[in-house]
Amino acid sequence: MSDVAFDVDLDAFAANLRAIRERVAPAEHMLVVKDDAYRHGLEAIVRRAVAEGITWIGALDVVTGAAARAVAGDSARIFAWLVDGADDIAEAVDAHLDIGVGTEALLEGVAAGAAAAETTALVHLKIDTGLHRNGVRPERWQAFVARASELEQAGSIRVMGIWTHIAEASDDDDDAQRAVYDAAVAQAREAGLAPEFFHVAASAAAFARPEFRYNMVRIGAFAYGIRSADGPSESELGLRVVGALRSRVLRVARAGISVAGGYTAGLPSTAAGSLSVQTPAGRSELTAVRADTSSLAPWPEAAVGDEITLWGGTGESATALGERLGTIGEEIVLRLSREVPRRYLG
Ligand SMILES: *Cc1c(COP(=O)(O)O)cnc(C)c1O
Repeated sequence: MSDVAFDVDLDAFAANLRAIRERVAPAEHMLVVKDDAYRHGLEAIVRRAVAEGITWIGALDVVTGAAARAVAGDSARIFAWLVDGADDIAEAVDAHLDIGVGTEALLEGVAAGAAAAETTALVHLKIDTGLHRNGVRPERWQAFVARASELEQAGSIRVMGIWTHIAEASDDDDDAQRAVYDAAVAQAREAGLAPEFFHVAASAAAFARPEFRYNMVRIGAFAYGIRSADGPSESELGLRVVGALRSRVLRVARAGISVAGGYTAGLPSTAAGSLSVQTPAGRSELTAVRADTSSLAPWPEAAVGDEITLWGGTGESATALGERLGTIGEEIVLRLSREVPRRYLG
């Protein structure tokens, strides 16, 4: 067995899906699985999610969307919003993805791709409500929805949803973005469109601000038990940490204990001095991070082979470490090397 592994507790994940469902109902939970399901492993996560009744999956890119389709079959709808170029469009149409469309050029491209494949593409139009991260600006929105309506009547697209991404920065900024969104939905309806899905919020806003839920929320981080930095605790949110970075003791010396796993595994070298690691005898301080190994302060009766938790699980969370390093939990998790094997529990 490898000396470093990322353990993924699928029962904890399933419990989070239930907690999210209770929290956001009647809005639907689109489970976001970008970045290999936040490094928890796309295949196992999608399989369990579908078994737990998830019917929408948010993929980000088309490669991830097609991979999710291969696992989920027809039991889920899959949304991809990073779609670029004719090949990407053809693949998205072929995999029956719901496509997020945030530019005029992509709208035309998707319609042309669907016409070529003699099918109707499912699209969700994206309004830029202020984040300037892709999306059609409000001053161009009316023309955009008018064109979408024409293409819908021609049969090449069907507008399934209207969406945006909000900053989740301050309540006031988010409220301003919501007003822009509501106006955009009204304009889409005036243009003759009849979208069914309205989605704005990611984890934090979906939990904290009911008025941002509409009828669907796109939640990634919270499903994996990755809370927001400087936000409510996991227990306050009713969530469990799903992943744990585990390692083993390699050498015991009076001065310190050498364990497997260093920055090549994805442990930030700046974590030295900022992280308490879970050992069989309680917490011990991480004192150094090297390429393939790290050092811990010694504890009594430490033995080669002892299993420790670097972060996650019953140790400190990725977000707690992130807070100390001035970043967010996602960044700690996404540093995990793909070389570190996943082990699934549950
Ligand atoms: C990543 C992402 C989400 C999920 O965000 P979390 O904070 O992880 O829940 C939702 N929507 C979009 C567009 C995203 O890129």
